[in-house]
Amino acid sequence: MNIYVDFDDCLCETARHFSGLAREMFGTDVPYENINFFNLQKSFSLTDKQYEDMMTEAHKPEILLSYDETPGAADALNAWVNDGHDVSVITGRPYSAFEASREWLDRHGLGAVKLYCLDKYGRDNFIKGSKFSLELEDYYKMHFDLAVEDSPHAFKFFDHLPGLKIMVYDRPWNHDIELPGANYKRCFDWETIRKSV
Ligand SMILES: [Mg+2]
Repeated sequence: MNIYVDFDDCLCETARHFSGLAREMFGTDVPYENINFFNLQKSFSLTDKQYEDMMTEAHKPEILLSYDETPGAADALNAWVNDGHDVSVITGRPYSAFEASREWLDRHGLGAVKLYCLDKYGRDNFIKGSKFSLELEDYYKMHFDLAVEDSPHAFKFFDHLPGLKIMVYDRPWNHDIELPGANYKRCFDWETIRKSV
């Protein structure tokens, strides 16, 4: 099988970090559980400038490397690799974050998985003027059988693969949305994801 895995809030606890970062930088009080929108500017009620500053801070290599692993993520991915599956981490992080992201994977024992930066969120998210390593037209040439994703904004990248099974990692910003189809399944932890494959 070819497996697509998102990085932030699937493999690591990015939003929990952002909650603390926004508190430190701007004094906001929005705990992780109350991050109701995937758009963090909206969730934290930040100005454009504050949002930009926060994203710049959050993408510093030492910060990217500090994100906690989502429990069981590395074990699950390695079990798939050991079973002969092809695992690609497709992240919406910009290419400027590639090196630190690659190192995070390597440090967590995930040297065997591939990493691609795809512009999933367009100009509404992340750092302005970002570059990405995977062009959309090349992404659409890839085939996947299974995907793990938390962001409703990324679901459009699955529409061209009718046979794809999508595991939606349950997070506050997707908890109340209706999943787009029967091929989507809400999962609360990596153990469930492993078992349902
Ligand atoms: Mg994500």
